[in-house]
Amino acid sequence: MKSCTLCLLPRPAEEKTCAICGCEEFGAEKTELGFADRLIGENLLGPAYQAIETSVAQGREDTDCVLQLAWLAYSFRDFRAVEIWCHEGLRLGADSAEPHLLLGLVLARGERWVEAVEEFDAALKKPGLLLERRAVLETLRAGAYANVPEW
Ligand SMILES: [Zn+2]
Repeated sequence: MKSCTLCLLPRPAEEKTCAICGCEEFGAEKTELGFADRLIGENLLGPAYQAIETSVAQGREDTDCVLQLAWLAYSFRDFRAVEIWCHEGLRLGADSAEPHLLLGLVLARGERWVEAVEEFDAALKKPGLLLERRAVLETLRAGAYANVPEW
């Protein structure tokens, strides 16, 4: 199953625009998918959200599954839930760039450009960022920065 370049989640082979984040670029095949990943890849996003949320409620909580919940909430346009899950992601994995990336996207949607740039900057400062991910973040940052009004 292919994966989306922005949200990194598995997507159906025939999809042209990611139903979760709106990205139109896809990359590496994902193998060894877990149950929730398979649901996400088949676009069963509601059931996937429920499955992951149940697992989190039972104490199996890590940065990855919290981030999956955040992206799914993003696809449901539930931006309050996106923020909650992103902050939980930062609590669990302070070195992860991903919650900052997603928070930046939410802020950019709300045209809060200065705060969006701050989130992308925070993401870019995280250690161990892959080159590909850095490129994605720099593109997002440039897009938000271009909208910051000049004083
Ligand atoms: Zn996506």
